Amino acid sequence: MQVRPVVALTALLSLAACSAPPPDKYKALIVDGQSNHKIWPITTQYLKSYLEETGLFSVDIATTPPSGGPMETYRPTFSDYALVVSNYNGEPWSEGAMADFEEFVAGGGAFVSVHSANNAFPEWTAYNEMIGIGGWGDRTERHGPYVRLREGEFVHDNSPGIGGSHGTRHEFQIDIRDTEHPITKGLPMQWMHANDELYDRLRGPAKNLRVLATAFSRVETEGTGEHEPILMTIQFGKGRIFHTTLGHALISQRCNGFITTFQRGAEWAVSGKVTQPVPQNFPTADKVSARPEPA
Ligand code: ZN
Repeated sequence: MQVRPVVALTALLSLAACSAPPPDKYKALIVDGQSNHKIWPITTQYLKSYLEETGLFSVDIATTPPSGGPMETYRPTFSDYALVVSNYNGEPWSEGAMADFEEFVAGGGAFVSVHSANNAFPEWTAYNEMIGIGGWGDRTERHGPYVRLREGEFVHDNSPGIGGSHGTRHEFQIDIRDTEHPITKGLPMQWMHANDELYDRLRGPAKNLRVLATAFSRVETEGTGEHEPILMTIQFGKGRIFHTTLGHALISQRCNGFITTFQRGAEWAVSGKVTQPVPQNFPTADKVSARPEPA
């Protein structure tokens, strides 16, 4: 009988020893260095701060040489990271860097593609599979179908034509199409996004692609008259990918809708779940909500 308290105490102590400290932050890497958007260095700083403020990520940056530079020197160790975020739209990486990245995502690494990252690497088959659909870079029907909303279902449209365009920049409403996915669960069904490019006519293999949100591309703003995919997830091997087409200019990158979906998308990509609450300042169906320009 006298043994019991000792056993209980030992059990308690071992329990205390087992209650590990909070898990280390996920290591994230932002890739950048070339873009058709001159603001890309500021965008990277925005994305870095958005990841860090979740408390979930520590963030490094891997910047390529400038256009025309020695691209063969660029070879980040992707395998050191849980998440890679791309703010890159430029010259092809080396064969080695591309192979490393493919292996990283296929093996279960998380990837987030932001805005014109889906313009990059039009001839890289695996990359097109990772982003699902992309634009520009002479993308055409040979890259894959358009993804079109028809009678409540997303279907592939193999019509010939360009891949990637956008009308005039404007504020536009985002429609949530998947209310059960962890990234979009709990978000308002419709919310107004700050002034941005509304990417349209993206095309690609669209394999294992789930459309979470669309925006209607109005003919009046030189759009397509279609509900264009805006937020997507893709599975590539064991890797989870979150793809947002939003984020052309700094104003759109300061939209609380952009920020929240980026943060939630990053968490989902690394963990398969989202623990972040929807912030109070999330935009409403008719009102943009954006952060002020940093001082
Ligand atoms: Zn843009």
